[in-house]
Amino acid sequence: MSHPPRLNLYDLTREQLRTQLVRWELSPVHAATVWNYLYLGLAESFSETAMPDLPAKVRTRLLAETTLGVLPTALETDSSDGFTRKYLLRLADQERIETVLMRFTGRVTACVSSQVGCAMGCVFCATGQMGYTRHLTPGEIVAQAVHVARALKLSALSAHHSAPAAHPPARLRNVVLMGMGEPLHNYDAVMQATDILRDEAGLALGAERITLSTVGVVPGILRLAQEKRPFHLAVSLHAATQAERAALVPAAKKWPLDELMAACRTYSESTGRKIFYEWTLIEGKNDSVETARAVGELLRGLPAQVNLIPLNPTSGYDGAPTHNAAAKAFQHILASEFKLPSTVRQRRGIDIAAGCGQLAVAEAGH
Ligand code: SF4
Repeated sequence: MSHPPRLNLYDLTREQLRTQLVRWELSPVHAATVWNYLYLGLAESFSETAMPDLPAKVRTRLLAETTLGVLPTALETDSSDGFTRKYLLRLADQERIETVLMRFTGRVTACVSSQVGCAMGCVFCATGQMGYTRHLTPGEIVAQAVHVARALKLSALSAHHSAPAAHPPARLRNVVLMGMGEPLHNYDAVMQATDILRDEAGLALGAERITLSTVGVVPGILRLAQEKRPFHLAVSLHAATQAERAALVPAAKKWPLDELMAACRTYSESTGRKIFYEWTLIEGKNDSVETARAVGELLRGLPAQVNLIPLNPTSGYDGAPTHNAAAKAFQHILASEFKLPSTVRQRRGIDIAAGCGQLAVAEAGH
């Protein structure tokens, strides 16, 4: 006989946790204690060591009916420059997802996954090359941020003992949904997860420190606009014409460029927020000065910033990253002719395959 899956505590908002305790005929006041252990103590179990002040009847219920959805590490790698640590985390059904801890420009950021695999099929992306397996639950998304927060806490503790002068930041402050998967394809779970991550009594991430990265799922962008969700939104553009974009991003056949740009305009008008447009720079493909001008025309009048990211090579795609000089020339056109701000993102962590999905693909022996 199969049993229903246990309740994953990371799936619940604080209010839902209170409701659950009441359903078990326990006092809702214990919700604050449990919540503190989950998100301030970053507990890894229900043991008396991990949660010493938990009343016995609450512990018994939690042990009997719930799971603490801590995700074990299957593989962990550091980039040689020390800025990036990548975790391959194992889910309860043995699927694996990637979570990355990035430390640069004075910030600590967790890059988390929203799905196992991805249905969007971007040709240059290792996750896209894997195909789609399933959505992550809210708890599986939250657990990744907790994993990074716990790693930071541990490394801050060890630094405190070894080199007091060089304490790394101990608190997780930024989360980007840029790992495996398309977050707006898993909209409800992602929003539930962000509600949990933002809870001021827990990880307390500011909405302005959460970035959703979409390949251009138009209904999701319009829903964000309608709900006025105050996140940073990053839209992966990669090409300035429909034909070129559809060749790189198959999802563009479903949501064509003109519909995408109309949705972006609606989003910016309704939220008053600029959008970050992501542009993977592929040598000889989308990195010419003519293309830069086409990008400038496409984004004319929109509150926008362009993030230029030299391609992360994958075994399933034979494009090469744009050289620095061409990236700078691209950036110069955007700035001088269109007053369009842009950044060239450094390809940190490339030696540990920090592009999304690359560690999972490598581990699976593809
Ligand atoms: S780039 Fe993002 S949206 Fe495209 S296939 Fe990869 S994970 Fe999916």
